[in-house]
Amino acid sequence: MTTTVPALVAATPGASFERSTIERRDVGPNDVQIDIAYAGICHSDIHQAREEWGAGIFPMVPGHEIAGIVSAVGSDVTKHKVGDRVGIGCFVDSCRECENCLAGEEQFCLKGNVATYNGREYSGEETYGGYSTSIVANENYVLSIPEGIDLDVAAPLLCAGITTYSPLKHWGAGPGKKVAIVGMGGLGHMGVKIAAALGAEVTVLSQTLSKKEDGLRLGATDYFATSDDETFKTNSKRFDLIINTVSADLPIDKYLSMLTLDGSMVFVGLPEKPQTFRVFSLTGGRRSLAGSNIGGIRETQEMLDFCAEHGLGADIEVIGADQVDEAYERVVKSDVRYRFVIDTATIPENAA
Ligand code: NAP
Ligand code: ZN
Ligand code: ZN
Repeated sequence: MTTTVPALVAATPGASFERSTIERRDVGPNDVQIDIAYAGICHSDIHQAREEWGAGIFPMVPGHEIAGIVSAVGSDVTKHKVGDRVGIGCFVDSCRECENCLAGEEQFCLKGNVATYNGREYSGEETYGGYSTSIVANENYVLSIPEGIDLDVAAPLLCAGITTYSPLKHWGAGPGKKVAIVGMGGLGHMGVKIAAALGAEVTVLSQTLSKKEDGLRLGATDYFATSDDETFKTNSKRFDLIINTVSADLPIDKYLSMLTLDGSMVFVGLPEKPQTFRVFSLTGGRRSLAGSNIGGIRETQEMLDFCAEHGLGADIEVIGADQVDEAYERVVKSDVRYRFVIDTATIPENAA
């Protein structure tokens, strides 16, 4: 048995979103059913809905920044109860027995985790994401959203928050460290807030200075335009850590030149095309070029608790179901301050 629930569906790659319905599985003994209140729009949704990373599964219901309220629990569920404020991020299951799962790094599950959408359960069923009014998932992949963070500003933490928190922690951002965040979008603005809350000295490297005031308000002490070549000279050999959140191609050598001795540049942005760099840009300063991918369940909960403790949520623009296509266009044009969040109450047909 399944339950039919309203969702925003892209029928084919690049198609407009239409109000429709999908089937959600019945609540199993270890499952939690969530009434979704808000779903953030991540640039990864756009990459996948437009097949920029390769073939997708259609019809597609994107959304992996999900916040809502538990509406039912299975008989064996112990972590959550009806009425709890909860969230779901980028995956809804993993093998639970490989060394990476056992280490709490389920995002690197050796069997491959089950993506929240554009993926398949181990049973073969397609997964559908948060642009919907309800979802059912195993309790271990459902996060608790602490009191003190509203659900709308919490939703983007489930991807943008953890994707920046994890590398900032892994590469030791904190007091005495100089961190640069490249790109002031959904991920970038959370990276600025979190790096500043961790005690690092934060610089934003944006295409222009148009969002400078916001960057400084969010915790950066410096803000430079990468359209100005002087930026790369002024900041030569300055940063211990550069987190690159850009969804497009970058002249990587110019960015590597801003790393100090032993500095690291970490990619979280996932451009469509291969990127190139000169090996000399690394050897000249014993530098590292690395990548990072979301975070595990334990670290995602740690991030949510950290954000609650520091009063951090995303800066958002709440939109209705009719505005999602337009929001995609605006994200692609870097015209987002700083995350679009869908009010899922607007998704049902009769809400139109
Ligand atoms: P976003 O809101 O669109 O932010 C990306 C920012 O990059 C833009 O706001 C813009 O910042 C900058 N940018 C865009 N085009 C650029 C260009 N041509 N040259 C230089 N800078 C440019 O996107 P997002 O949701 O933060 O996601 C960013 C990327 O991270 C996407 O590729 C997404 O798929 C990926 N991602 C990865 C993970 C992971 O786990 N690794 C998780 C989530 C998302 P300025 O206006 O400040 O220049
Ligand atoms: Zn995402
Ligand atoms: Zn695993």
